[in-house]
Amino acid sequence: MNFDAFFKGELESLRREGRYRVFAELERHAGGFPRATHYGDKNRREITVWCSNDYLGMGQHPKVLDAMHRALDRCGAGAGGTRNISGNNHYHILLEEELADLHGKESALLFTSGYVSNWAALSTLGARIPGCVILSDACNHASMIEGIRQSGADKRIFGHNDVADLDRRLSQIDPDRPKLVAFESVYSMDGDIAPIAEICDVAERHGAMTYLDEVHGVGLYGPRGGGIADREGLSHRLTLIEGTLGKAFGTMGGYIAASNALCDFIRSFASGFIFTTSLPPAIAAGARASIQHLKSSSAERDRHQDRVALTRRKFDAAGIPHLANDSHIVPVMVGDPVLCKQISDRLLDQYGIYVQPINFPTVARGTERLRVTPSPLHSDQDIEHLVASLSEIWAELGVAKAA
Ligand SMILES: *Cc1c(COP(=O)(O)O)cnc(C)c1O
Repeated sequence: MNFDAFFKGELESLRREGRYRVFAELERHAGGFPRATHYGDKNRREITVWCSNDYLGMGQHPKVLDAMHRALDRCGAGAGGTRNISGNNHYHILLEEELADLHGKESALLFTSGYVSNWAALSTLGARIPGCVILSDACNHASMIEGIRQSGADKRIFGHNDVADLDRRLSQIDPDRPKLVAFESVYSMDGDIAPIAEICDVAERHGAMTYLDEVHGVGLYGPRGGGIADREGLSHRLTLIEGTLGKAFGTMGGYIAASNALCDFIRSFASGFIFTTSLPPAIAAGARASIQHLKSSSAERDRHQDRVALTRRKFDAAGIPHLANDSHIVPVMVGDPVLCKQISDRLLDQYGIYVQPINFPTVARGTERLRVTPSPLHSDQDIEHLVASLSEIWAELGVAKAA
């Protein structure tokens, strides 16, 4: 086989469908977020980022940077190996205590990313609990899907946020079999929010464990930034809460928070925890500083919601079609992969605005979009400029406006 010819052929078919992924080369500016330098083909210039998952700009917060500098100088660059070999770094323990407290759980356990935490926790639970059936929301993130697949457990997919469908499917399973319901709080592409209380009611009635991915909720919702479950006073009803340190907390890493026994079980059996080098101490220290700050400060959350509301109002006034939801994610709907990429390219090249196009398989075909994420650091002028630029592009390319 001519391997390179095969690879090129596969890539060519991605290009034909308009969903070949091109990553912009950017340099973020600490202290200047949401500005970044774009290294283009011909020139480099300053642009404004409108699709970051560093939702609150905590990646440049002085307290976070300061904690990272100090830990770096004390401990050096890396963790020195897996925790199995190199032990627990002091900063890992401090961070896990912070996370357990954030979610009102007995324990927390760190992973190198949110993806790894979902993959490792779900694959271990599904594989190690005899006869376990996993009920998975139809819109769950790839990391959950891969973890469930890897576990080899029986899987039932329930309709997205469809509590009646979940109830029906749970009823069809032998009451004696162990069951786990896996879902998210804020869904990252549509920005819609799960009916967590209702899902817990149904799960409890059937004796099922609940596994909640709060990746797009932590730091952003709840009086202390514990997520949607925290906001709704439901953290104690979830068996396990999973989150990331890479989005609103502005650093990197993932975690689960649950009972002592459950965290110890994952620590002891999960390959994706045991056999990989743990997070650098400086990252752990920065994440902890970020969580601590957001536990006591709601200023970032309040300003974030204010910016989101203003962006939506301006889009409405300009007829830019966006999906309504109750979160901070503003999906501007385009519905065509080639057009979506074209709009994104034009925003960057002509208006200095960076918003990555979101195409299949991240979202369903025909629902291609620009996923706009306003932050507390986007000014009124930034918002005006985004809306005016999109309006011009909409007119030039003849894109359909909102009714
Ligand atoms: C981004 C994401 C993850 C993975 O988290 P990382 O820390 O980026 O690996 C998990 N779940 C959802 C819903 C996500 O959007």
